[in-house]
Amino acid sequence: MRYTRTQNTINVILRKGVKLHLFKPSNRRIWTIVGRNNEYWVDPENNFCSCKDYYFQTLSGKEKCYHLRIIDIAKRKKLIDSIEFSDDEYTIFLKALISDIYFSTTR
Ligand SMILES: [Zn+2]
Repeated sequence: MRYTRTQNTINVILRKGVKLHLFKPSNRRIWTIVGRNNEYWVDPENNFCSCKDYYFQTLSGKEKCYHLRIIDIAKRKKLIDSIEFSDDEYTIFLKALISDIYFSTTR
């Protein structure tokens, strides 16, 4: 495997990095994982992640990227940092997230 993550890294992310943004009253959900340098948009329901591993490994059927795996662990251990927003903030939030992802991949 190209990327080996230590248990330590996983623990650090589990402590604070798995965020569930919950928009009310529609209950729309956006999951993100804050990594060392970037924030990733992860959608466990649709098995999607915005990282490069997802593109090269998950889409080619090899295995889930480690963000998708971390969300599974975080759900099991209930280590999710859940933040509520109002639906009014949804578009602004999405724009900011997408532009973060855009700049982190073009840097
Ligand atoms: Zn990922």
